[in-house]
Amino acid sequence: MNILAFGPNGSGKGTQGAIVKEKHGMDHIESGAIFREHIKGGTELGKKAKEYIERGDLVPDDITIPMVLETLGKSKDKGWLLDGFPRSLAQAEALDKALNESGMGLDYVIEIVLDRQVAKDRIMGRRLCANDNNHPNHIAFEAIKPVEKDGKLVCRVCGGELSARADDQDEEAIGKRHDIYYDDNTGTMAAVNYFKNNSSAKVISVDGGPSIKEVSALIMKEL
Ligand code: AMP
Repeated sequence: MNILAFGPNGSGKGTQGAIVKEKHGMDHIESGAIFREHIKGGTELGKKAKEYIERGDLVPDDITIPMVLETLGKSKDKGWLLDGFPRSLAQAEALDKALNESGMGLDYVIEIVLDRQVAKDRIMGRRLCANDNNHPNHIAFEAIKPVEKDGKLVCRVCGGELSARADDQDEEAIGKRHDIYYDDNTGTMAAVNYFKNNSSAKVISVDGGPSIKEVSALIMKEL
């Protein structure tokens, strides 16, 4: 099963992606997480991407598109849930072309709809687990609240160290990421509309406002 997941930063897209992955066993591919791995590992690609990510700008397509398409190809047999890509109309067109050429189908498009201000408030409270990107933690959500150990907040799933992403604490960077997301001319909303209008995939549009459990139940019912 192949799925595209859309939603503004802070909408719970990563959390819902981790739940779908757990249930259906496909690979969860997050473009942002791949970049962060490269930065952590000090690779050439990571060095090139770092400055864009810190500012909240898109990493250029000549770096991003081949990186994501290569990762997708590796998950062809297992299936994938792609999160964070495409983020623009140009990326949507490149992905569509690559899917057609490779014979990979697209089964579902999940869109989590959330007001911009609500999304912004949510971003600042999320925390990253050092051991596993699929361990969501958020200081404001009871269901995924980190736990306290020796006076420190640690991952509620594995006890791993937690950190806050620098671009999640920078209001200017958050603003830029949301400008890109809500742009329905050439930005991410244009990519959402592209797949809504040009693909035979089933579209699941859900309100991201309710609790994690409620949103997940709505998605699971449709998958
Ligand atoms: P995310 O974890 O999805 O919030 O992504 C973090 C950052 O990685 C973004 O703000 C961009 O700088 C970069 N990034 C992630 N996905 C893409 C993409 N599809 N195209 C360009 N840049 C991306």
